[in-house]
Amino acid sequence: MVKLIIAANWKMNKTRKEAASLIKKVRPILNNKQREVVIFPPFTCLDVVSKLLKGKSAKFGAQNMHYETKGPYTGEISVDMLKEVGCSYVLIGHSERRINCNENDEDVNRKIRTAVENEFTPILCIGENLDERESERTDAILEEQIRNGLNGLTKDKVLKVVIAYEPIWAIGTGRSATTEQASHAHSEIRKLLTNMYDRDVAQKMRILYGGSVTSENISSLLRGKGIDGFLVGGASLKPDEFIKIVKAKPKVVR
Ligand code: PEP
Repeated sequence: MVKLIIAANWKMNKTRKEAASLIKKVRPILNNKQREVVIFPPFTCLDVVSKLLKGKSAKFGAQNMHYETKGPYTGEISVDMLKEVGCSYVLIGHSERRINCNENDEDVNRKIRTAVENEFTPILCIGENLDERESERTDAILEEQIRNGLNGLTKDKVLKVVIAYEPIWAIGTGRSATTEQASHAHSEIRKLLTNMYDRDVAQKMRILYGGSVTSENISSLLRGKGIDGFLVGGASLKPDEFIKIVKAKPKVVR
């Protein structure tokens, strides 16, 4: 059985001491048999998290990396540097980076390719803003981001990529997509992947939902068809909340 992924994006939060304290508090879910827990701390906490996760099934990764493997890129970090501290995942193209750091689809594609070529699991983040949703351009935006983001990847390479559908209007706003909206987007993404590759690839690729996931809405979102896990921001910084999210079961509808 493929485990659902529950990923924690800590964003620019937690000093090394705070990171150690948070990892210790979420210890009960670091060896979870039903879920693949992945922690994304800031760069400065990667080694702290690495040490504390030794012998646990939970994995960890970086929130970004450069597409070049070395060179004159002041302030950037390479795949080998991340490998050295034991990362196996990397977030690519998070909307906060697309918006605040002007990351475009071409940068995203180059990063995805570097990650895959180096045996990393990239999580390709995509999603529409509110204006695009309200003007019914969601499917077109997702298609553009996926086609560009996965450009040049063969079938066996693309299977190493995880996609996170994260509508921008839902990130950090407290307004999650409904289970139906998330399932619909996931099903459109799978149709597109069938078109670009084939049905087998589309079924096997893991697609996460992210955007204001909490312990309150997780049981409902878990009912969503085709949702292979969640990328959790704000709620992953609260240990009790994150433990509840990892342990949650789908809501039973009578
Ligand atoms: C995110 O930043 O990826 C995210 C989903 O944030 P939040 O859960 O806070 O909306």
